[in-house]
Amino acid sequence: MMELTGKSVCKGTAMGPVLVIDKRDFVVKRRKIQDAGAELERLERAVELSGEQLQALYEKARAEVGEARAAIFEVHQMLLEDEDYQNAIHRIIENEMVNAEFAAALTGDHFSEMFAGMDDEYMKARAADIRDVSNRLVQNLQGNAGEKTVISGPVIIVADDLTPSETVQMDKDKILAFATVQGSSQSHTAILARMMNIPALVGVPMELDQLKNGMTAIVDGGTGRMILNPSPEQCRQAEARIREEREQEMLLNCLRGKATVTRSGRCVHLYANIGNVSDMGHVLENDAEGIGLFRSEFLYLGRQALPSEEEQFAAYRQVLQMMADKKVIIRTLDIGADKQAEYLQLGKEENPAMGYRAIRICLRQPQIFRTQLRALMRAAVYGNLAVMYPMIISTQEIKKIHKIVESVGQELKDSGIPYRIPEQGIMIETPAAVMISEELAQLTDFFSIGTNDLTQYTLAIDRQNEKLDDFYDARHPAVLRMIKMTVDSAHRHGKWVGICGELGADLQLTEEFVRMGVDELSVSPAMILKLRKRIREIL
Ligand code: PEP
Ligand code: MG
Repeated sequence: MMELTGKSVCKGTAMGPVLVIDKRDFVVKRRKIQDAGAELERLERAVELSGEQLQALYEKARAEVGEARAAIFEVHQMLLEDEDYQNAIHRIIENEMVNAEFAAALTGDHFSEMFAGMDDEYMKARAADIRDVSNRLVQNLQGNAGEKTVISGPVIIVADDLTPSETVQMDKDKILAFATVQGSSQSHTAILARMMNIPALVGVPMELDQLKNGMTAIVDGGTGRMILNPSPEQCRQAEARIREEREQEMLLNCLRGKATVTRSGRCVHLYANIGNVSDMGHVLENDAEGIGLFRSEFLYLGRQALPSEEEQFAAYRQVLQMMADKKVIIRTLDIGADKQAEYLQLGKEENPAMGYRAIRICLRQPQIFRTQLRALMRAAVYGNLAVMYPMIISTQEIKKIHKIVESVGQELKDSGIPYRIPEQGIMIETPAAVMISEELAQLTDFFSIGTNDLTQYTLAIDRQNEKLDDFYDARHPAVLRMIKMTVDSAHRHGKWVGICGELGADLQLTEEFVRMGVDELSVSPAMILKLRKRIREIL
């Protein structure tokens, strides 16, 4: 028995025989050539073939996991055809008079190292994509491409790393779990694993040559543990866990793809809250109908400087593409109070929850706001984006915001940069906003009620103060009446209204919210199916 611990990228338990995919035998030899022209021709044919294979993979993935997730193979096609990448291979062949596979492998290594060394998590994760593209090209040059791993029965795939194209080519009905030595939880392989809902671990410290095909393993996606050659008792425990998970999944899984509709036929939009692109796996896994709150400030935290426009654009675009044409509501920067970034030098405040935070910072430091709006408006071209503004207390604020949005749009237009002005809503999280919701509704496309802050400001209870936990009553009648008032104001002006605070996931209040006329609930991904079940049982 051997127990190893890695990082879980997809929950669940699996037990079965191991299939080791050892790619270390894959060595590319350097060979001197005489005719660079002939070698370039050989390269051109392999590039063409690789392009065709990627197109076929794109079609297959599109049919199996949807347009948005298949887009990775379009990215691979773009990388393959990238001028810098192609020129680098050409230069090595011509200058060093070496074989094309060696030049392609070397270039792939250089480019993937370059990406892996970048600070941006998204760019870092692209290193695996470059490696994937180069390996394909090399295999095509060697004449052994298109060979996919043949899997005969249900197995636990064990590998040093898995590329997205390897993953999508596998017959997923025969895969019990994945466990890899390398791999990031943001990689497309991890996303695909989550998409397929297959228990998966990365970063498992295994020696592949000590593993044998057919040996039994247990993968525990809950704890990140992998047990090789488990004891009979460990097998019994794993079997019991698998049974339990199946029962629970079966109960909820049957709701995937089903409409979120009450017994009398009222539709409620069920969206997910996220803080980062890496949460998207969870969103897809739980069949969210959209993103109701992307807390964009998480992109600004835990770093030394503001995120650039490009960095933000890449993150927003990725979420939009992954959601295809489903709605994605991104909240503009809500920093301050408990969410501090040293580099902004916001300073200590006596009363931070009521202080310099959220939209107040954006209106006082418009350059920060404009950069985010540029990224958002550029990303809007790639999907169904809506933005919302936090901590609004007046109509003047909305008017100021709209002016800034207009001027940012003009700036993008003048520079010939593609953009779109998204649907714009506001968060209702102050009693002031509730009291003037009638006026606010006339200036905005939708409301999203932030009950976490609305409760703190209504009850005068600092949500950060654990001594006040017993007093913090989110179901307080004052809060519930404010929600009702907000819904009525929005509806009187033909606007929709959602709840994105934690209260939205309170199953005991679901019926009351639906009766009030709430149009959308945005909750943590793990709550989606539980809420769908509840909504389908009521009214
Ligand atoms: C809220 O206040 O309810 C909300 C959703 O925003 P946050 O929790 O990020 O303040
Ligand atoms: Mg809030």
